[in-house]
Amino acid sequence: MQVKFFQRAAVILAFVFASSLVSALELSPEESAYLDSREEFLICVDPDWLPFEAIEDGKHIGIAADYFAEFSQILNKRFTLLETKSWTESVETAKAGNCDILTILNETPERLKFLNFTEPYVTTSVVIVSKEDVYVIDSLSALEGKTLAVPENYFYVEYLQRDYPDINLVYTQSQKESIKKVSTGQVFATIGTQVTLLRDLQQLAISNVKVASFTEYKSVLRVGVKKSDMLLHSIMSKVVNEVPRDMENKILQRWYSVKVEQDIDATVLWQIMAASFAIFIILYLQIRNARNFNKVLREKNKELERISQTDHLTGVYNRLKTDQVIKNEVSRAERYGSSFSIMLFDIDHFKQINDSKGHQVGDVALVQLCNLVKSNIRETDLLGRWGGEEFMLVCPELSAAKAGQLAEKLRGLIENHSFPHALQITVSFGVAEYRNGDKPDELLSQADKLLYKAKDAGRNRVALS
Ligand code: GH3
Ligand code: MG
Ligand code: MG
Repeated sequence: MQVKFFQRAAVILAFVFASSLVSALELSPEESAYLDSREEFLICVDPDWLPFEAIEDGKHIGIAADYFAEFSQILNKRFTLLETKSWTESVETAKAGNCDILTILNETPERLKFLNFTEPYVTTSVVIVSKEDVYVIDSLSALEGKTLAVPENYFYVEYLQRDYPDINLVYTQSQKESIKKVSTGQVFATIGTQVTLLRDLQQLAISNVKVASFTEYKSVLRVGVKKSDMLLHSIMSKVVNEVPRDMENKILQRWYSVKVEQDIDATVLWQIMAASFAIFIILYLQIRNARNFNKVLREKNKELERISQTDHLTGVYNRLKTDQVIKNEVSRAERYGSSFSIMLFDIDHFKQINDSKGHQVGDVALVQLCNLVKSNIRETDLLGRWGGEEFMLVCPELSAAKAGQLAEKLRGLIENHSFPHALQITVSFGVAEYRNGDKPDELLSQADKLLYKAKDAGRNRVALS
């Protein structure tokens, strides 16, 4: 008795459950029987019409595919894809009665001859695409007398032929081919659904075309059912209304959000790229200028430093720099216990030369003397003008004896050098060696004393410490 009760309850529950699934559809007994008699339905699709639909690796994808997955669940029936190479082939196959359904398409008078249509389930605008530099196309009538590329078999071809007989239609195999024809100037414009056109523009990366205007046409997309199959038409008409609202939103969002990401108008994309490039160039030039400026600044600083250390007449170091060098040598010698020598030398009776030959000749003699000395000393020796006709030679690592030899050599060279205007020039030297613990002043005063000693002894000679 209990078993019987449970059996009955189970049967009732199963019935309620099953009827709750199908009851929403409210299929007639005829329709239900027909559905039971069919194992699957064959569908033909557009192989290249994303986001609406496409065939990818033999699979139906896109908005229509998602809807048909829902329809399949609701009806508990399989929709099997009959693969074709083109939309035209799909239409022809349907026309020949070899597929039961065209999944997503517009209703046209021509198509009504071999299909019955359900209510629309997706709607989108039809727009005109022209070259970037074409002015105001505000409607389809602006295209009268002009060429317009359209994929043959697209629904608006029939409308255009009916409404705008003066537009010269150029038939193509696909929307992309139409866009290319516009871009290359073979035709004046093309039209297509907004969503698919923008997607194609993006994929083709064509920059010289633009969406010029909306048209009065709307792509109102429905399911097309083989004309002879009345029952399937009435079933599909019920099914398209059965997809839950939230499901519909999910499907559309999924495929349109792809569109939003990719749909940046190619022109805008180019503008962004051009602007970025311009900014890059400006930044680059600024950085380069700054670099050049720094380079110039460094060079100027070097030049300034050189000027501040140099005697402007002779080009040898000035007193300030020479003094600095002596101080450095003193501290170096103190640190390493090394020694060095200095040589203070002064032109003999230079006043007389100036007086007899003139100041300018005296200047030339000063310059020549410096050149002569510079070319006969070591690279490490440093020549400075101590003042007037008095010079200082700093000789690192050189003992007084060695420095004395050098001074003697220089004295002889100067004495025998032929200066301009038959000048005879002689020089007196005071040579002092740095001794550990000496202060710079002591070293200098020693050299000074020795120079005076040389002068006192008759000039043109070297006095050694
Ligand atoms: P001494 O042998 O004792 O050194 O005799 P001097 O004539 O060389 O010495 P004094 O100090 O009496 O005169 C130095 C002269 O050097 C005076 C000045 O006219 C000359 N003199 C100093 N600086 C320059 C210069 O830049 N150019 C020229 N042409 N002469 C200069
Ligand atoms: Mg002198
Ligand atoms: Mg002097």
